[in-house]
Amino acid sequence: MSPETIPGPTPDPADGKKRADTTAITNIATLVTNDPSLGSGPLGLIQDAAIVIDGDRIGWVGPSSKAPTTDNRLDAGGRAVVPGFVDSHSHLVFAGDRTAEFNARMSGQSYSAGGIRTTVAATRAASNNELNANVARYVAEARRQGTTTIEIKSGYGLTTEDEARALTIASVHTDEVTYLGAHIVAPEFADRPEAYVDLVTGPMLDACAPHARWIDVFCERGAFDGDQARAILTAGKRAGLLPRVHANQLTHGPGVQLAVELDAASADHCTHLTDADVDALAGGSTVATLLPGAEFSTRAEWPDARRLLDAGAVVALSTDCNPGSSFTSSMPFCIALAVRDMGMTPDEALWSATAGGAAALRRTDVGRLSPGARANLALLDAPSHVHLAYRPGVPLVSAVWQDGELV
Ligand SMILES: [Zn+2]
Repeated sequence: MSPETIPGPTPDPADGKKRADTTAITNIATLVTNDPSLGSGPLGLIQDAAIVIDGDRIGWVGPSSKAPTTDNRLDAGGRAVVPGFVDSHSHLVFAGDRTAEFNARMSGQSYSAGGIRTTVAATRAASNNELNANVARYVAEARRQGTTTIEIKSGYGLTTEDEARALTIASVHTDEVTYLGAHIVAPEFADRPEAYVDLVTGPMLDACAPHARWIDVFCERGAFDGDQARAILTAGKRAGLLPRVHANQLTHGPGVQLAVELDAASADHCTHLTDADVDALAGGSTVATLLPGAEFSTRAEWPDARRLLDAGAVVALSTDCNPGSSFTSSMPFCIALAVRDMGMTPDEALWSATAGGAAALRRTDVGRLSPGARANLALLDAPSHVHLAYRPGVPLVSAVWQDGELV
């Protein structure tokens, strides 16, 4: 099909009335609804489909031949439509980059959590405008690649003022804001980690809780141990925040078990798991969020998605976009890695990047394309979602709607 069939945003009518608000996208070769009641398999696939956007919501899905009359109509030309990606793990409030560190690591040095300090220094030195512009830039970059819901963490301020500032800036761009004062022990507290935990669970928490929905902790050797992580997450819960955990990324550790015990929405990374960890994830309500960009960018061992899926765990995929260990905003790239190297099928990877991410954020209004869901969707320059892994590195996302608006 020709690109002319993709319209720009509908202009406001001259009389100033609200623009026409129903749009049918017809002639979709493969529509992924993620609603098994609407189509085949776990993805709820409908072939030769149509979908109706009604305001900011999905109004209808079904066979293209039965599409209802709408104000606007768009012919997808035999391409695929998928739910907008839900990236449930990113660290976008930062300044500077770590090109030199990446370059060194790719020349044979190993990654350690201490590299975060470089970004902390640059972020503290940056102006509000600079940080806000960076977040806007990376959110737009993600959106061009099909991401319509993104979680953003603090964690490069590590003072009360700088953490609260990061959350305030993040909340301009998303509702999914996470307080990560416990990213690493702040450099000023290197010899007094318990005093830093007191700060994170005390005055810093008080200043940050009003600006966040979630609390997170990097539970890892070199960051926070199990007891510290438990204290931080428990304090966050008391302040009304919902827990999520950076768990078992670099080594085996208590993070996953703690996440499940505290009913965290997600345990993120899950690269080094014991059988007991896998069983806990399979038996609990905590999503296992895998972040293959981190393993790719640090030449580390891949998380074993197949093992988790076979055990019955819910698996999400996210970018972990951050300047140190995973500087990608591309969910299609993560899908390709998950299929190639983590034992996921293309269907499973697509589900994990959409519905899985929604589950990791405890959202039911995104990650699916069934009536009533948010009209967040991506049109692919391909006949099916399988091409996201089949054609790695190719920019297949050709149009994105967020809350019903073509963006
Ligand atoms: Zn992270």
